[in-house]
Amino acid sequence: MDAPTPPARPILTAVLLAVGSELTTGETRDTNSGEIAHTLSEAGVEVAWISALPDRLGTVVAALRGALDAADLVVTTGGLGPTPDDLTRESIAAVCGEEPAVDPELARWLRHLFDRRSVAFAEANLKQAWLIPSATAIPNDRGTAPGWWVDRPDGRVVVALPGPPSEMRAMWQGPVLARLRERVLGRERVTRTYRLTGIGESTVAALLGEPLLRAENPVVATYARADAVDVRISAIAGDGKSATLCADEATTAVLQAVGVYVWGHGDDTWPSVLGRGLERNGWDAALVEVGTGGSGARLLGEATWLRTTQSIAAGDPRAAAVLVDLADEVRRGAGASIGLAVRAIEKGEDTRVELAAVGPWGVTESSQTAFLGGSEGRRRAGIAAAAFLDRILREPSTRGQD
Ligand code: ATP
Repeated sequence: MDAPTPPARPILTAVLLAVGSELTTGETRDTNSGEIAHTLSEAGVEVAWISALPDRLGTVVAALRGALDAADLVVTTGGLGPTPDDLTRESIAAVCGEEPAVDPELARWLRHLFDRRSVAFAEANLKQAWLIPSATAIPNDRGTAPGWWVDRPDGRVVVALPGPPSEMRAMWQGPVLARLRERVLGRERVTRTYRLTGIGESTVAALLGEPLLRAENPVVATYARADAVDVRISAIAGDGKSATLCADEATTAVLQAVGVYVWGHGDDTWPSVLGRGLERNGWDAALVEVGTGGSGARLLGEATWLRTTQSIAAGDPRAAAVLVDLADEVRRGAGASIGLAVRAIEKGEDTRVELAAVGPWGVTESSQTAFLGGSEGRRRAGIAAAAFLDRILREPSTRGQD
């Protein structure tokens, strides 16, 4: 008898469960859930929560029950191996009230895998050929543990994938996503990211204010990244407004509060943003840094518009040279349009950052104090150099002395 076709329930919410005591003891980090969450969020599915669970039947069963109460989709990773402590299948079977049984076709496939490698087939492996009536197997081309796709009577779905990331990834991105996309997957979601510099995350949060940061739709969140503080707006349709309109309203509020600190959007990086600014003018650049430990080169080194980078250690006699002279020297040496120079000097607990640029417009100089000393201060000096060049490229009026 064919199983009844489940109702085509839209997949709008998900819970992710990573199973394995190696995760709860800290021996392995759960990277699988982050990857899955990323795809789901991009598709407009809200991931309600992510949990890591030990290899304990009662704990996994309880987590599955809770997840199925809350979400349209539950994805588990791990616990699909052949040993008794791999008990994701038992847990799902218990939640569904069904008995696992060896599927003859899967068993044949599994035995064939072992034959192919001339490895004796231990009967314990047959566990990997188990199915329950409401599960279909998700093929695994890279391992011996097929996944499970389980349709619940109310249209919810449980997907069980193996733990090894390469197996998980191939199955998730291939057959599982294809099957999920046959349904309504996620809500239309508009996301925008603004990249800020010259301001700390807590100040960004204070300027944005609690009402904006606590709103459920659009979600406005701040993230302190290595090269920027990001403000991300994520909107879905609601209150009779389209996702775009909701995002537009939040964008206006965000830009009013912190717009002057924005240097990029979305996937922009310093090399890409500065590259666009230089290209507008038909320019390229060369960089010299003093006492930064090469942080500017690390930030910008991949850029094709960068003709050369030089790093002068704080103890080098040239470290005390006039910065404009260093900028001019590196520019001439490289035959570049712009010479950019940055010097980091530890001052108490912070770092003094001196900046100079020599280009077709003349000379621009600036200085500032970067928060913290040591490697953090040196890292910030590299960012300050990028932001300095950005300002010059954006606002011709800054090309005089600061
Ligand atoms: P298999 O039988 O192929 O090993 P399995 O589903 O039983 O699959 P586990 O035994 O739970 O998988 O995990 C196998 C290995 O995969 C772990 O030792 C670990 O290295 C990696 N792994 C498991 N879960 C995760 C996870 N959530 N994130 C990253 N790596 C993981």
